Amino acid sequence: MIAHVTVDVAVDRLFDYLVPDCLRDRAVPGARVRVPFGRRTITGYVVEVVDQVDRTDPTDLLGMAIAPRPLKSILSIVGADPFLTGPVLKLLQWLADYYCAPLEAAIRSALPAPVRAAGARPKEQLFVELPDRKGTMGPKLTPRQIEILAQIRQVNGGWAAALCRELCCTPELLRKLATAGAIVLEPRVLRRDPLANRTVLPTRPLLLMPEQAAALAQAKALCDAAESRPLLLLGVTNSGKTEVYLQAIAHVLAQGRGAIVLVPEIALTPQTVQRFAGRFGSQVAVLHSALSDGERHDEWHRIRTGEARVVVGPRSAVFAPLPRLGLIVVDEEHEPSYKQDEAPRYHARDVAVMRGRIERCAVILGSATPAMESWQNAQAGKYLLARMSCRVDNRPRPAVRIVDMRIEAAKAGHVQVFSTALLDAIQDRLSQGEQSILFLNRRGYAAALICPRCGHVETCEACNQAFTYHQADTCLRCHTCGAFRQVPTACPDCGDPAFKYQGFGTQRVEAILQKCFPQARIGRLDADITARRHSHDEVLGAFRTGRTDILLGTQMIAKGLHFPSVTLVGVVAADMSLHLPDFRAGERTFQLLAQVSGRAGRGDLPGEVIIQTYTPGHPAVIAAETADFETFAAAELADRRSIGFPPFMKLACLTLRGPAEARVAMFACKLAERILAHAAAGLSVTDALPAPRAKAKGEFRYQILLRAATMRQIQPPLRQAVAETKLPADMALAIDVDAVNIL
Ligand code: ADP
Ligand code: ZN
Repeated sequence: MIAHVTVDVAVDRLFDYLVPDCLRDRAVPGARVRVPFGRRTITGYVVEVVDQVDRTDPTDLLGMAIAPRPLKSILSIVGADPFLTGPVLKLLQWLADYYCAPLEAAIRSALPAPVRAAGARPKEQLFVELPDRKGTMGPKLTPRQIEILAQIRQVNGGWAAALCRELCCTPELLRKLATAGAIVLEPRVLRRDPLANRTVLPTRPLLLMPEQAAALAQAKALCDAAESRPLLLLGVTNSGKTEVYLQAIAHVLAQGRGAIVLVPEIALTPQTVQRFAGRFGSQVAVLHSALSDGERHDEWHRIRTGEARVVVGPRSAVFAPLPRLGLIVVDEEHEPSYKQDEAPRYHARDVAVMRGRIERCAVILGSATPAMESWQNAQAGKYLLARMSCRVDNRPRPAVRIVDMRIEAAKAGHVQVFSTALLDAIQDRLSQGEQSILFLNRRGYAAALICPRCGHVETCEACNQAFTYHQADTCLRCHTCGAFRQVPTACPDCGDPAFKYQGFGTQRVEAILQKCFPQARIGRLDADITARRHSHDEVLGAFRTGRTDILLGTQMIAKGLHFPSVTLVGVVAADMSLHLPDFRAGERTFQLLAQVSGRAGRGDLPGEVIIQTYTPGHPAVIAAETADFETFAAAELADRRSIGFPPFMKLACLTLRGPAEARVAMFACKLAERILAHAAAGLSVTDALPAPRAKAKGEFRYQILLRAATMRQIQPPLRQAVAETKLPADMALAIDVDAVNIL
């Protein structure tokens, strides 16, 4: 018998090993093995086991046959059960193929580092038990020992280390008690439990509202069906989606199966975990990079053995090794953080859908603002759809007001950061002792040029996308087709010479704000602040406890935060994310505006939202006023169809980076040419262009975009071209299939 084995060193190929007779039963696909490799012994995973192997005899450089080297044998198999279940291995093979990544990289993303680590094993510690009968005592005990023994009897034993701490005694004393036969010391596996020391209040299923009940019925039907069609749950914030998930999970648990709940990394808070632990208790396992290595190791094995059947975690939890999976929930399925930003660049939502198909289990995708891809799939009938449009608490939606900043600029004679309306509203909250959130979705690189007077944005006619302003050579470039033009000296529409307006950052806004309201206590939250450890929690803590009046921040304050005493949300400039050189700019802006608006009026006081913009006519801004997802989606999809972008076309983005710009450009051009040479009709390949973020960490970045109707038109030429292109050691290529951020 011969096993095809993938090994930890990334070489993107399988190696053959003989399976010794004694390992035959356990050398199954997914098993973790130790194998000789060169002069070392390394770890690998069995991918396939075959009886015989066809080997074309290898040839040397001159084409002469050389004798094949004899196969080496597998040395040992790690663990009682295979580390990768059959379906997960199948999933990873699909993933490696689809995302053009090596299989061993896919396996690395599926197994947490503490599980992959060679010496990883459960932790054993001494446990103190009381013997059944108090009978025969050994040597006589000292008074001190008798005193401690009495105390141990009172608490009925426990972990030795904890007893030593609590009773102020030494481990030697316990050992003496054990020798005397007064207690029994035995090693036991200590579960390192991330939920320990947390009081979890048990909850019971709530009586559902009609829309929830209908959604749950659809979800249950899917769990019972053999066919797997994902269910898209379109539910406004506070419509009770989580309660639907909880009851669907209860349904599969009753069938003896398990469930995975994916949440965006940023939403994986103790509160989120508690909602699941409150319902399902110790059956819940958490997989999270913030856990200690020991906790991650133990949680993973609790899942693998079937002890924990509800897994809550970020994108990598989609690979959780549940033996019998019944349901995968992807909450906030539109979140860009589901896309992994290193190889393999998989999208956890799409991997979840594929796993559902492989394991024949139900998949629920939930969001108030679904991704266009998911929405289109629901429109086309590939996904089922359930709508929930009532809020559970019947609280009115906050009033949303759009402020046209062009008018403000005209009134003042120059560009304004704050409109009178927003300033008045902030002043009003300050005097009432209520809190405000100000939101600035600024991203610090490539920007569009907006005319502060008329709102005109220079746009590429062919691609219907804003040109990106390149400061280095002061020109405008289209990042989709490569067209470029000089920066006009005045606005082509209204002739205003102040055309080069590019916005402002959080720090400047904070300074202006402080000047307007000297008495206000302001907290700022952005990437600069959170770079310092713990300061993130400090800023949020100060705001939550009312020690600050205004919270100013970037998109990181948009999501999931629940502050009941916030009655005003201000969006300082909605345009900033609108004109990024990314075809999803409109979609992102709508999602962000809908989400920040949800931050206002969560308590008993009604909320107000003020959105400042230079382009009040943009569909994303108009739709934000009414939070009407479906109208926005219809317009957005029509636009995507006309310019030939996802979800109607498939897209892959290649980014090549290196320290010398000329060489990066040259290799990128060569790569583009090679792809074209292998391409069939229907594949569009852009020229190699400087990336929107043209330079990062001292490296120059060039991009190529590939578009076609199906992935099958993209992958083969891409793989061939990459295989033929030997990159110098100081250059790196990132392949991003279904890219969600084109940076
Ligand atoms: P979503 O996930 O859609 O934002 P949640 O599931 O978090 O909404 O629900 C919001 C709040 O409403 C939660 O506090 C939840 O306990 C409560 N809730 C949900 N469903 C019901 C129900 N049927 N009856 C009463 N309260 C509910
Ligand atoms: Zn263009």
